[in-house]
Order: sequence, then C-alpha cells, then structure tokens
Amino acid sequence: MSFESLGLSPDILRAIADAGYTEPTPIQAQAIPVVLSGKDVMAGAQTGTGKTASFTLPMLHKLAVHQNTSTSPARHQVRGLILAPTRELAAQVEASVRTYSKYLSLRSTSVYGGVHIDPQIAELRRGVEILVATPGRLLDHLHQKSVNLSQVEFLVLDEADRMLDMGFMPDIRRIFSYLPPRRQNLLFSATFAEEIKRLANDFMHDPQLIEVARRNATADTVTQVAYPVGNDHKRRLLAQIIKNEKLEQVLIFTNTKTGANRLAHQLIHENINAVAIHSDKTQQARMQALAEFKEGKIQALVATDIAARGLDIDDLPCVVNFELPHSAEDYVHRIGRTGRAGTSGKAISLVSPEEKRYLSDIEKLIKRVIPLEAMPGFGAERLVEVAGKDHYHERSKERARPVAARKVEPEPRIEPELALELAPDTEIKRAPIRRPGQKREVAALLLPPRSIPATE
Ligand code: AMP
Repeated sequence: MSFESLGLSPDILRAIADAGYTEPTPIQAQAIPVVLSGKDVMAGAQTGTGKTASFTLPMLHKLAVHQNTSTSPARHQVRGLILAPTRELAAQVEASVRTYSKYLSLRSTSVYGGVHIDPQIAELRRGVEILVATPGRLLDHLHQKSVNLSQVEFLVLDEADRMLDMGFMPDIRRIFSYLPPRRQNLLFSATFAEEIKRLANDFMHDPQLIEVARRNATADTVTQVAYPVGNDHKRRLLAQIIKNEKLEQVLIFTNTKTGANRLAHQLIHENINAVAIHSDKTQQARMQALAEFKEGKIQALVATDIAARGLDIDDLPCVVNFELPHSAEDYVHRIGRTGRAGTSGKAISLVSPEEKRYLSDIEKLIKRVIPLEAMPGFGAERLVEVAGKDHYHERSKERARPVAARKVEPEPRIEPELALELAPDTEIKRAPIRRPGQKREVAALLLPPRSIPATE
C-alpha cells in the first residue's frame, strides 16, 4: 500500500516524502480513507503507531479548501482543533502538523499552560486554521475570548485515556459547548475505559471503530527485562547498567518528582549527565531538557509519567523503570517510548521485593512474563524474594523454551548457584506468550457497540 493510493493531495504527499515515510503504517492505512470519507472515527492506537499522521494528514487534505495568504485574521478561522493531555504532546503534535502542512497555506499553533498566555493571545488573534491545545489553557483562552471555535470542522481528542486519567473530562465537556454541532470527530486512545465510551457516546456520530494493536500490548520490538534489587542498591545498579551497556541515551522513570530530582543528582555524582523533568519544572526547562536529550547532550533523562507522556524520541534505545509504576497501564505507556516505528528497543525494570505485586499486575496485563536477570552483587539473594516460589518456577519454564522460538532476548546472566535453582522440573501454568507470527488478539469486546446514537 502506498500513500498515493490513499487519495491524499500532491502537496501533502510531497511533505510525507520529505519526512522520509515510504508507506503508511497500519493505523494510517485504515484511518485515512475513513476520515477522508467524512465519518467520525474512534481509534485504538498507542503512541508510536503513527497515529498523529493518521488524523493530521486527512484533516489537512480536507482543510486545504481554506488555504489563503491574506493577512486578515477573519480569513484564518480555527477549522481543526486537536486536544492533547500534556504540553509536550501538544507541542509535538503541532510540530507534526507543521511538517505535513509545509506546502499548504494553512496556519497552525499550539497553546498550553506553564508559559505566558500573552504571546499565545497575540498569535490566536492573528488567526490560525489548526489549533493544538491542552484543555485547561484552551478554556482560559475561551474565557478571555482570545479564540473563537464556532467554525471548527474537525475535533480530535488525542490520547483520550490520558486526558481522563489527568482529570480533564469536565474541561473537555465544557469545550464542547463552544463548538458547532456539525463537525467531524476523531478520538484516539490507547485504552477504552467505560468513561471514554460514555464520552464517545455523547459527542460522536456513528463512529467507525479502528484498532490496530491489541489493547495493552507491548511492542514485539521492545526487549523487556527486570533486575531484582533492594531499594537501597537501585541507584548503584542503575549506574552500573548505564556503564556496562554503554547507554548513551536513556529515559528513566521514577514515580515522584522528588525521586526524579534526587536520582538525577545522584547520577551526576556518578559522572552520568542527567536531568530531571517533571511538572514542577518550567515549560522552558522541560523543552530545553528534551531538546538536549534528543541531540545527545544529555545522557539520562529522569522523568515522571506525566512529564514523559507522549514523548516521541526517534530511535530511543532504552527505557529504565527505576521504580515500577503502580498502574500496570503506565508500564505499557512508559516502555512504548522505545522500539517505535519498527526500531528495536530495550525496557529495563529495577524491581525491589516491595514492588513484586506491581510486577505481577504488569505481567497479567501484557500477558507475558518479563525475564528476571540477576546482576552479580546486586540481586541474586533478592531473586526468590521478588519472584516468589511459584513465579520463580514459571520463569524457569520461560527460560527453558528453545531460543529459536523466542524473541531476540539476550540470554540471562545467571550465577551458577542460581542456575541450579532455576532449573526445577516442576510443571507450572504460564501466562500465554505471543510467538512471532502468531495472530494478535483483537480486543473487539473492549470497544463500544458499532452504532452509537448521535446526541448532538
Ligand atoms: P506517533 O505514533 O504519531 O507518535 O508516531 C511515531 C513516530 O513514527 C513519529 O516519529 C513519526 O514521525 C513516525 N512515523 C509516522 N508515520 C510514519 C510512516 N508512515 N513511516 C515512517 N515513520 C512514520
């Protein structure tokens, strides 16, 4: 399948070619024709699947009728509105809009909190066709009347599940009241909680459902491994892993802002160039850290979940969970930062005995066992504590599988005395693991009924 066959205009095809894309990703191949046909779309797609282009390209194609070079603000009404949960994602989506619209005379901008509102007001007053916004800051603009949404033709809710988690649903519903009833609606979400289905029911018109990857699936391109370690030794182990594996660019997750600050300081002491990003940092500091990380000036970016949401870093080789997230779905989001667009990546988790239950929640959700490796001097004695007796045996079965049938996971480094313990012949029940070539499970049951009554 080619982009040409999807019916996109030559100006857009040229921009896609400049971006180096040769063929559409599965979500693009499925969503673009449906969006072009004018239907509402509800899509289950995670970051890293190419979802941004799947809604931006057909939206730009349809909005191209509004192209003009007039300086009059009245000729540049907001026609496409994209709501995103975080500042970083909003800025990133807008950068994609600019990339794909470089040969079109359409204006775009993004507005989000944490920065001065005045320059945003000035830009909105000059007029834009495509606006990418976080919900809270958009409401500020609506209250100040710096933006008019009465001409919106496209509404996109990007990462709707994240917006739900972050408590944006009341804001989003308030924003709906500023929009005209006749418009095309697109909703993208990695997961479909009941409240997302209710929201979809309330604002979408008979949406076409599209899903490209199993809900909560982790990409096969990411090799996952866990190291058992006591909390007191995590920092030392992390520094050793970074050095041993010669990690030049690593994104590290902590569960708290103070934890992120402390860890970044400690890594600097170990001669690892590290910076923390979280919601207490100014927007400028976060953007600068991200830019320097992308350029390779910063080796380790230590982030909380919120700060890292939606981050798109080309060819990020490794993600480390310094602490396991308490919500298993956050694990899927975290490790989805690596192994994107078909590249390979590694996700390393440092697991203390106290975090054992989070590890099993994650394994239940992703329906695979994460191999445990023991780093000499750090966790051999912790292995049984973390794994538990049964789990321990499960892992031994996992290891017993022939190498050819497994993904490209490195052979675990096991100390000899552990290897003996890791080879019991006990029969155990193991979580199903998808083997290469095995069909994906499609979560049709997780999606709402095909016909959703229009309420607007
Ligand atoms: P997204 O899921 O929208 O965050 O996109 C993930 C990454 O895939 C981004 O870096 C895009 O630039 C890249 N990408 C999107 N579509 C394609 C494509 N058709 N071919 C190659 N890369 C793509």
